[in-house]
Amino acid sequence: MIANALIAWFGANGRDLPWRHTRDPYRVLVAELMLQQTQVERVIPKYHAFLAQFPDIHTLATAPTSAVITAWQGLGYNRRALYLQRTAQAVVSQYAGIFPRDVATLKQLPGIGDYTSGAIACFAYEQDVAFLDTNIRRVILRLLTDPQALIPSEQSLRDLAAQHVPSGQGWAWNQAIMELGAIICTANSPKCPRCPLRGDCRDYAARLAADDALEPLAPAKPRRVAERKDAPFAGSNRQIRGRIIDALRQTPHSLTQIHTHLLQSGLNLDTTKLAAVIAGLVRDGLVVTTDSIIKLPE
Ligand code: SF4
Repeated sequence: MIANALIAWFGANGRDLPWRHTRDPYRVLVAELMLQQTQVERVIPKYHAFLAQFPDIHTLATAPTSAVITAWQGLGYNRRALYLQRTAQAVVSQYAGIFPRDVATLKQLPGIGDYTSGAIACFAYEQDVAFLDTNIRRVILRLLTDPQALIPSEQSLRDLAAQHVPSGQGWAWNQAIMELGAIICTANSPKCPRCPLRGDCRDYAARLAADDALEPLAPAKPRRVAERKDAPFAGSNRQIRGRIIDALRQTPHSLTQIHTHLLQSGLNLDTTKLAAVIAGLVRDGLVVTTDSIIKLPE
């Protein structure tokens, strides 16, 4: 019943997003990696532009890494660009360019974890698998678990989600539950009165029971759900790394030139710290240094 209500709601209310029109695992992977940490509105134009530049897995696998990192501009978390290309290279070299279908094999690809392997198996190959992202986790927690109990482990939540994936409808179920978490069952202000699952929701029922005066259709106080809080961005390592990569997208730099560039953009850090940040970028494979010149990898 939950599945029917959720999928029907999605059919009537789900957003028309470009990656929902494809079953190509390469395109699904591009979308999923872009959507991690970046909002849908910002991803849409970048998704189209990236696929125009790298239309298939072979093009991406053989492209200069500097071009891939440059194409990632505006999305942040540049390591995702690197993982994306490494995955493409692994699929081309190990699987003749055809993505594996099963979750366990997908998880062995570079940068592919529980979530992304499940997303490819489901959104490209339409398998009935369960996986958790922030939105799905929040909905499962509120909908299906005891609000008074401790928050269950990640594995317990995944098992719970797996029990509810309707046979043959994994694609629709997972798209629908993600969408519900994104636009209705949001972190801080769930729109319970508009939720198609409120009649089955344990969190909503507990809130109604706790307050007789609460109108059944009135917006209610959300259960607090532990979610990852990003560290402040200003002055962070992440900001410094992003600024360095932005500079190198234009042209290679020396350490001194990068230092000056950061100073001009309002980031004042000593050269010892700067050298440590650059060493981290080198370790991650995002930049290379040759003869004291720092640049994006070819
Ligand atoms: S009723 Fe409210 S808390 Fe429950 S799933 Fe729907 S939006 Fe989330």
